[in-house]
Order: sequence, then C-alpha cells, then structure tokens
Amino acid sequence: MIENIRVIAFDADDTLFINEPYFDEAEEKFCALMSDYLSKQSLAQALFKTQISNLPLYGYGIKGYVLSMVQTAYEVSNHTVSTKVMEKIIEIGKELLAKPIVLLDGIEDTLQQLHGKYKLVVATKGDLKDQHRKLHLSGLGAYFHHIEVMVEKEELDYEKLLKRLEIEPENFLMIGNSLKSDVLPVLNIGGTAVHVPFHTTWAHERIDHEIVHNNFYSVEKTSEILTLLNL
Ligand SMILES: [Mg+2]
Repeated sequence: MIENIRVIAFDADDTLFINEPYFDEAEEKFCALMSDYLSKQSLAQALFKTQISNLPLYGYGIKGYVLSMVQTAYEVSNHTVSTKVMEKIIEIGKELLAKPIVLLDGIEDTLQQLHGKYKLVVATKGDLKDQHRKLHLSGLGAYFHHIEVMVEKEELDYEKLLKRLEIEPENFLMIGNSLKSDVLPVLNIGGTAVHVPFHTTWAHERIDHEIVHNNFYSVEKTSEILTLLNL
C-alpha cells in the first residue's frame, strides 16, 4: 500500500489519452511519401536518428517532429525532394495537431475518485500549446491543479517540480507509461512511481532492464491505483 502521498502527478501522452499510435501513423505516411528513396525500415531509422539528434535543440512534440521529417527528407533524397512532398510533410504535422483526444479506459472515474483527496497535476513533455490543447479537449482539466510542461523528465526536472509544489519526495506519486521518464527519475529522487504500460512505446522511452524498488508499482489499468492508495 502507498501512504503519505499528497500530490499525484499524471503523465499525459499514453497515460491519460492515446498519443503514440498517432505518431506511428504519421511515420507510416512519411515513409510512404518518401518510398522512392529508401525502404520503409531505413526511412524510419533515419527519421528516428534525426529526431534524437534534434531533441536537445527542439525538445519533444509535434513541431520538432515536423522539422525532423523535413530534414530527413532532404538528407535521404540528397536534396532532390520536391516542394510538393515538403508541403505534404507539413500537412502530416498539422493533422497530428488536430487528432481527436481519446481517453484511456477508466481515467475519468479514477480522477473523480482522487479529486479532492490529493492535489492532482499533469506532468508532461511536449509542445506547450499542444499539451494545453489536448488537456482542454480531454475535458479532464477541472480535475487538475495545473499542467506542468517539462523540458525533460529527469531527476533535476522532478526536483524542481517538487520544490514548486512545496512537497517532499515521500509525498509525491507519479503515474505514467514510460519507465524511463515517469518511473526511474522519480524513484531516484525518493518519490513513488506507478507504471501503467501502454501497448506501444516510442523507442526513445524504452529501457532494457527490470525495475526492482520498494516504491515502484506496476498495474495494468490506472484504476488499480485506487486499491494501492487504499481508496
Ligand atoms: Mg507518456
């Protein structure tokens, strides 16, 4: 059982609502657009490599993803790619920014039960405007004290968040689908973390070892945290 928690932070993408399947779909479209130049697998690899090398410049989110698609298109085509293709790449990005918000199972009921008992926040990476848009359209905004759009989700970023929230790590619980971003750094600073896996995870968010820790929990559905919190 988890005790002494005052603030519960939820990751947004693939924790509150679906996200990664939309990026997978966008990648498919990009690969189809560029199929004259390379195989699907090589294009996906090239795009991933560009994305990762651009992360320190652009951060996470759709806008950076579009710029990485543009750069990859120039590079794999040896600068011969048409402006028509460029236009379509921009279009893929705009489509991503207009995707419907699909809540994951049981999220709203769980938030309803936690609301008023804990301070609830959203802790997410990504583009500021897009994350605010998604939270607004999700209809979940009223359950949360605020949304924290973080540049990174590393130990230092969580420490800053706790400082602003004026709480100690032992009073903080993080819930999310990424072991790398939502679980490990939180455990490392003395907080508690619950992993709720999503069926698909971006390669950059995967880790290749198991986590064994007293403050680590893994559940199949978010609603199971209610039992962990003895509600
Ligand atoms: Mg996530």
